[in-house]
Amino acid sequence: MFGTNGVRGIINKDLTVELVLNLSRAVGTYFNSGLIGIARDSRKGGEMFTQLVTSGLISTGCSVVNLGYAPTPTLQFMIPKLGCIAGIMVTASHNPPQFNGIKVIGSNGIETSRESEKEIEILYNSNKFKVADWNKIGQVTHYDSSIDVYLEAIKSHVDVEKIQNRKLKVIVDGANSVGSLATPRLMRELGCTVVSLNAQLDGSFPGRNPEPIPENIKDLALTVKATGADLGIAHDGDADRATFVDETGRVLWGDQSFALIASRVLAKKHGSTLVTPVSSGRLIEDVARKAGATIDWTAVGSVDVSHRLEETGAELGGEENGGVFYPDHQPVRDGAMTAAQIVEIIALEGKTLSELVSELPTYFNTKVKVQVLQEKKEPLAAALLELSKDMNRIIIDGVKIIHDDGWFLIRPSGTEPIYRCFAEGKTQETADRLSDEGVKLIERAKTLV
Ligand code: MG
Repeated sequence: MFGTNGVRGIINKDLTVELVLNLSRAVGTYFNSGLIGIARDSRKGGEMFTQLVTSGLISTGCSVVNLGYAPTPTLQFMIPKLGCIAGIMVTASHNPPQFNGIKVIGSNGIETSRESEKEIEILYNSNKFKVADWNKIGQVTHYDSSIDVYLEAIKSHVDVEKIQNRKLKVIVDGANSVGSLATPRLMRELGCTVVSLNAQLDGSFPGRNPEPIPENIKDLALTVKATGADLGIAHDGDADRATFVDETGRVLWGDQSFALIASRVLAKKHGSTLVTPVSSGRLIEDVARKAGATIDWTAVGSVDVSHRLEETGAELGGEENGGVFYPDHQPVRDGAMTAAQIVEIIALEGKTLSELVSELPTYFNTKVKVQVLQEKKEPLAAALLELSKDMNRIIIDGVKIIHDDGWFLIRPSGTEPIYRCFAEGKTQETADRLSDEGVKLIERAKTLV
């Protein structure tokens, strides 16, 4: 039932009141007792699910502290601060408006491990939950200052005075959700002039689809250009991700903003480590090499990156979709922290965002899908491993084949009967050629299964 990042489904269809209540009872049974922090984004059903989560948890004897509306990284930051043993975030992140979901977070503020998810799922399926005696039902309290505490923490990690002196003009698109409660205020406190778009909380997402990808944030790009702003910031529904628009109105790729932050963070200390999924490309490798840092590859998924950061104490994590993890603050994706780091870089470097990006190397990519029967997906993975055994490769998640001029990554889709091939090269022709090579490898593997 848990996907790459929590349990998600269409409200009242897949994600029913029964499911959320019993999942919460399973979570309460799993953690057994103690305080559990909860929060929600602006999605429809958020209030309904928050009440079900509260009832489910306290029925097992756990107590609940409700943070109300808050970004996911705010709840994650507050969990250890408030002495919580766990957290539940009611959100479906960047999914379309009809979705909502449940993210279970551990006592360190990181989403629970795959093993814990499995145990919770077993408890859920067993339908046997801890039931507290009448006088042992948990307490419910409310905590209203989480965003204040969270923003103070973010400011402690950047050069506030330098940013204030630069007097930037920033447009923030909060996706009609909880990012609007944190980032516009953060930018104002950093001395920026702020214009907010889609700042009213509305789970029908009237302003735009909550995924901050170029086609969804055209209004932001136009507004940045039309108002002569220095940059634009767009969040997803729960504001753990941030996408940036430069002063010319161009939307940055996620790996570009990640690379800018990586250049700065990794340069602070020689011999740093950068944690990133195998889906990240050469730009990140270039930046790491230049800073004398090593890369620690993980499987694809923000939870894998967070857990690895926690285990190793590495200096930075990031994903090519623009998720940046700065463990000095917290080892999870954090949209507002990422935004603060980008404005700090602009202030310290004395350059525009487009100038900073133009200094980064450029790569080209190609994405293709290959149909594979659902039941052949697993045998195909084994065949691909066998066929590629003499190639220069990384096999942490799927098969990544590395050439001097580029690479390609082949992975099965988690939900659809397809394999995806993602290729990157120094030119578009190289990316296309590598992508063809990847497809041919899949086709050869298909003949073996
Ligand atoms: Mg998110």
